[in-house]
Order: sequence, then C-alpha cells, then structure tokens
Amino acid sequence: MAMETTFSIIKPNAVKKNVIGAIIEKFEENGLKVAAAKLAVIPRAQCEEFYAEHKERPFFGELVDFMTSGPVMLMALHGENAITRNREIMGATNPAEAAEGTLRKLYGDSMGENAVHGSDSPASAERELKIFFTSSEMVNK
Ligand code: ADP
Ligand code: MG
Repeated sequence: MAMETTFSIIKPNAVKKNVIGAIIEKFEENGLKVAAAKLAVIPRAQCEEFYAEHKERPFFGELVDFMTSGPVMLMALHGENAITRNREIMGATNPAEAAEGTLRKLYGDSMGENAVHGSDSPASAERELKIFFTSSEMVNK
C-alpha cells in the first residue's frame, strides 16, 4: 500500500468541544501521523476556494459561515493509505448515519457540523494541502 498524505480539518464545533486531543489520538491509534498542524480562523475567501466544488449547492453559504465561525485545526496526516484510512476513521458525512466509534458519530452535531473534514482522493488531498500549507511546513513528505 502506498504512503500518502491527506488533508484534515477539525471543524469549529469540535474545537469548541475541546476534543482536538481526542481526535488526534484516534488518528494516531489508527496509524496516521500528524505531518503539519495549525490552529487558525480560515479567511472567508480561502474557505470559498476550498469548498469551490460545492458552490452551487443550497448549503454553500451556511457551510462557509460555519467553517469561518471560529478556530479550526488544519492538519496534514501521513501514513499508509492515509486518504481512505482517514475517511474510515471519520465515518459518514451525516453523523446520524456514521458507524459507532467514528469521529463524526462521536463528535458530529449535524450534517453541516460534522466535526471533521478529510480529503476524498489523491487529487483532492494535493489541491487542499496546497491551499493551507507550504511544502516546508510539512514533514514526512
Ligand atoms: P464529506 O465532508 O463527507 O466529503 P461532502 O463533500 O459531500 O461531504 O460535503 C462537504 C461538507 O458540506 C460536509 O462535510 C458537510 O459539512 C457539508 N454538507 C454536505 N451536505 C450537506 C447538507 N445536505 N446540508 C448541510 N451541510 C452539508
Ligand atoms: Mg467531500
């Protein structure tokens, strides 16, 4: 299996719940390593660029409002099959449908406020990492 780096966000609702450590622990227990991390409030324009694929969806404005409403933890996660592994640890988009023990089941509040983001493909991971990190900010690359 390939070593990969994926992009992860601990969303504002999870940061407010003070579970940054619990979430990172879950990644570490499952073989993913933090390769970059910063706590930040995402500027609106950068958030709109990040979620550009959802621009036409009815929830776009609400999504950007939420994601820029407070600090988030931006991370690069590195490990074997990291992109798929992260999506498995996160669980389904809707916390109500997420499997037991997944991050969205544990910490998600609703479809929008679902605690974590994770890239869905190698192309997405590359695009998303570049929006938030320079290559010198990432280790294990
Ligand atoms: P995922 O984050 O699992 O890849 P999507 O790419 O489909 O899911 O959606 C991106 C984000 O937009 C979701 O994580 C969620 O925060 C929000 N979202 C998706 N669908 C809805 C919806 N129907 N209503 C409100 N917010 C939504
Ligand atoms: Mg997605």
